[in-house]
Amino acid sequence: MTELPDRRLLLVHAHPDDESINNGATMAKYAAEGAQVTLVTCTLGEEGEVIPPGLAHLAPDREGGLGPYRAGELAAAMKELGVTDHRFLGGQGRHRDSGMMGVEQNRRAGAFWSADLDDAACDLVAVIREVRPQVLVTYDPDGGYGHPDHIKAHRVAVRAAELAADSAFRRDLGDPWGITKVYWNRVPRSVGEQAFARLREALPELPFTRSADLADVPGVVDDTAVTTEIDGTAYAAAKAAAMRAHATQIEVSEPWFVLSNQLAQPLFTTEYYELVSGERPGTRETDLFAGIDREEADAR
Ligand SMILES: [Zn+2]
Repeated sequence: MTELPDRRLLLVHAHPDDESINNGATMAKYAAEGAQVTLVTCTLGEEGEVIPPGLAHLAPDREGGLGPYRAGELAAAMKELGVTDHRFLGGQGRHRDSGMMGVEQNRRAGAFWSADLDDAACDLVAVIREVRPQVLVTYDPDGGYGHPDHIKAHRVAVRAAELAADSAFRRDLGDPWGITKVYWNRVPRSVGEQAFARLREALPELPFTRSADLADVPGVVDDTAVTTEIDGTAYAAAKAAAMRAHATQIEVSEPWFVLSNQLAQPLFTTEYYELVSGERPGTRETDLFAGIDREEADAR
């Protein structure tokens, strides 16, 4: 009764660019392999700082317009990754970037941080019931690094997964669907430490002057917490191109990049995950869909 591909992956992110930085190689790989890859981005990233001087007028304290501009960057990034299904939670502009924790924008009307959790989750329930993903990827409860929109994206994703599976909940939003595996974005500490050691050696040759610290990287955990790694070596160029498409936010010099703070960071082309819902593997998985019986997962 369905024309959906066998394997279906849903990613929930806070701002345009988070998906390419965290999961660009993973998304490109699964899209190339014919899986359904659906990205839901919760805000337009209106509060982001603008790197190119020629686009500085887009900033919220100048003319504005950064949000719609970033929607265009996201569309260009998705082309680079081969991902055709990308959506904004509740529609483009439904939720606004809340800014960093503690700023007045957190409480402004329309700020994602202030949105009612179940209202926001309902919009995601409809997506989950439509695309019926076996795998969900999002942030940990701290959003990886404490940004309110990232924390809220986590909460909305978790709540929506729960509600989507509840056969008594809002049948007008579609037939119930239970997600088999839920992952958080991770970076194993040893991988991060080694990458920053290489970065400090390479720095004199780079167009960047200073290095970030491992503490600046979201989702760093002890190696033992990491259950899954996706080797995206074959998709490194696609990931770098997708990151470059977010030109207001990112400058790339492979295999490094900077955000608006101009502190160099490693661009990881092997991407790491922690499985938090679903049977925890004995050894590290190399496939987000490992262990999923496709026919069973497809059955109602
Ligand atoms: Zn973000």
